[in-house]
Amino acid sequence: MAWRCSGSSNAGLVANLWTHGLITEPLVKEAFLKVDRRHYAPAMPYQDSPQSIGYDATISAPHMHASAIENVLSRLLPSDASPAPRVLDVGSGSGYLTHIFAELVGDRGLVVGLEHIRELRALGEANMRKSPDGSRLLDEGRAKFVVGDGRLGWKEPARPGEEQFGQQWDVIHVGAAAKEVHAPLLEQLKAPGCMFIPVDDDATGWDQSVWRIEKDEEGNVTRKKLFGVRYVPLTDPPKR
Ligand code: SAH
Repeated sequence: MAWRCSGSSNAGLVANLWTHGLITEPLVKEAFLKVDRRHYAPAMPYQDSPQSIGYDATISAPHMHASAIENVLSRLLPSDASPAPRVLDVGSGSGYLTHIFAELVGDRGLVVGLEHIRELRALGEANMRKSPDGSRLLDEGRAKFVVGDGRLGWKEPARPGEEQFGQQWDVIHVGAAAKEVHAPLLEQLKAPGCMFIPVDDDATGWDQSVWRIEKDEEGNVTRKKLFGVRYVPLTDPPKR
């Protein structure tokens, strides 16, 4: 699918993602139109391929971002059952997807972008500040970027007045390939909730598949293999 969806502007790219069925929900299309990729990808922002953002990291390809959002959408949008969705974006990198999530969780939602490289944490936040809308979401506390090891998840206290929504996550998105579905991530997933996570299929690190992990209201977990991918690994931070 890579390359096919490229465009010469953000609107052109989104239109192609829509035409090729990578984005199927109007609300998702709206969110992708609101967030200009040129604020996040330093070169060729509207090309449908991953781009380097330094520190051995990449901003994922637009069709992967679209797929990630579409696959967790059922738990992402505010609903009567979950009026204030909480989303953890592990390996937030450029911050692009963190911003898209923040556009979709509604006025009471919360999105935390978690990075293990300080400079990338700062980059994600700085990129999001390039637009008035991104700045507003950060200032309102609807989105924030933190430093930590994504394999351990993240405990973010509830905002004042939102204690009833607990500290778990409705959605966990992992933007780097994990060796396994790390136990803390599964523990921190709400019931109901869902996780989008690329996992190594073997010890080589080259064969990876994205899994969609669903926890139902009773806490029962089901796993579905979605498709093969090539992500940077979820690791210890590089020694510099
Ligand atoms: N969603 C991001 C993907 C960035 S690439 C985007 O599209 O821009 C994957 C990111 O995972 C990198 O930024 C890398 O630094 C981060 N990463 C790798 N291992 C990690 C770990 N253990 N904890 C947190 N972040 C990690």
